[in-house]
Amino acid sequence: MRVVLVERLSPGEQSRLGELEALVKTLKFEVVSILQQVRHPDLTYQIGKGKASELADLVKSTNAERVVFSNQLTPTQAYKLSRLVGVEVVDKFQIVLEIFAMRAGSPEAKLQIEYARLKYEMPKIRVQVKNLLSVEQPGFRGGGEYEVDVRYDMVKRKLANLRRKLKSVEKNREERRKFRRKRGFKLVALAGYTNSGKSTLLNILTDSKAEVDNMYFTTLMPRTRALKASQMTLLTDTVGFIDDLPPSLFEAFKATLEEIYLADLVVMLVDASDSIPEIIRKLKTSQKVLAEYPVKVITVLNKVDLITKEDLERKMGVLQSMTSTLVPISATNGTNLKALLDVIRTNTKPGSF
Ligand code: GDP
Ligand code: MG
Repeated sequence: MRVVLVERLSPGEQSRLGELEALVKTLKFEVVSILQQVRHPDLTYQIGKGKASELADLVKSTNAERVVFSNQLTPTQAYKLSRLVGVEVVDKFQIVLEIFAMRAGSPEAKLQIEYARLKYEMPKIRVQVKNLLSVEQPGFRGGGEYEVDVRYDMVKRKLANLRRKLKSVEKNREERRKFRRKRGFKLVALAGYTNSGKSTLLNILTDSKAEVDNMYFTTLMPRTRALKASQMTLLTDTVGFIDDLPPSLFEAFKATLEEIYLADLVVMLVDASDSIPEIIRKLKTSQKVLAEYPVKVITVLNKVDLITKEDLERKMGVLQSMTSTLVPISATNGTNLKALLDVIRTNTKPGSF
């Protein structure tokens, strides 16, 4: 899928395109072009009118199949933009939902995500149906309203149905954890924001050719592999934290963190190239989420190759006051990976749970 990324920033706002790129990469989309604009949000198109027609030209000249906005779009904006540019226009959170759906392992997570998707799309359905009907039957405004209500009610009933199903899904996580421990496996989950280096670390610490040969884990967690250093320790990648997640998507996000419910240890990655306020903000958010899981957490400061020694010392100082165990590494350079493995080993020893 060829996509154009669009970001509108208010004056002085920091770009989040790195995150958006990482997200679309997760879905294996190809970024063919990027459009940025600094201005206050436009009511009709989010970006300005002139920029929107520039976007339409760009979509044509690059043969893009989809446009992805970094900003959250109102249903009307999404509708008007896609009419203008001729391909589907979605926002970051639509992409996030697609990633959640792809990553959902357990039946509970699948239900949770379907629920979130419907809730997120409900206002969009309303706008689409309305616009469609007013185009097709200009004289039948009243009838259109009726159609909208019928389809809207259908979605509402579906939501209620999902809520009921969710309630009845067995909470068997503790059972699964026991099962795994009885067989002597240890599970380590990688957590952290998108782009912090989770997948890179997973690849370097595990033998990527040796997929974990155990149906029980591979069906539940598609990206779980054995550590090179210890075949009984399994490392698993998670979906990653995402900035500005709307509250309606938050439950779905937690459901996709099934790996964390089941883990013996969470390795929380922090991107050393972020500014100190960014690091603090992200770490606090992550810690708040992780506090809801009964699991031990160690913090890893990744990408130390990108910063100076002085910067590293400053950041280590800040992080030390916020964490219990802290290991600085570079996943790409291999710096300090042995120390990290030692810390993982110590923290997954029997009796350390
Ligand atoms: P994820 O979203 O957390 O899975 O992050 P990825 O593993 O996809 O990495 C995001 C980007 O950071 C990629 O471009 C990696 O090559 C890069 N990266 C990861 N670890 C390091 C590191 O230690 N140093 C540097 N310089 N780049 C890194
Ligand atoms: Mg990743």
